[in-house]
Amino acid sequence: MNTKPLSWTPRRRGDIYCAPACGGGCTHAAFLKAHADAKRLCKRLGPGWEADVYENLGWHYSVHKGQCHVYRNGPGRYWASLETKHGQFHHHARTPKKAVDAIVKQCVEVAEAMLAVTRP
Ligand SMILES: [Zn+2]
Repeated sequence: MNTKPLSWTPRRRGDIYCAPACGGGCTHAAFLKAHADAKRLCKRLGPGWEADVYENLGWHYSVHKGQCHVYRNGPGRYWASLETKHGQFHHHARTPKKAVDAIVKQCVEVAEAMLAVTRP
């Protein structure tokens, strides 16, 4: 059997804006809302944050700056994640800034713990 993979390029049909590979009947309104919400989250976090909008049985978004990604998991619930080649730091918080700050704190604690090893 020779099957051709379905395209992830969304197609517009009236109010629908959905890729054949998704097939979830995603709407163009949801696509626009995901972009607007992502842009608002970038602005809330400050300079350098970029939006990532993606489709998978609905339009979703996250934002990233460098290797740090922030997701909104519902009202007042944000998840920040920093993946490095040495491991992952992540934290849930009520605001995106608190989630990112918690990761920064975790990273500083790890760095301080390692630096303490090098001190006499
Ligand atoms: Zn879809």
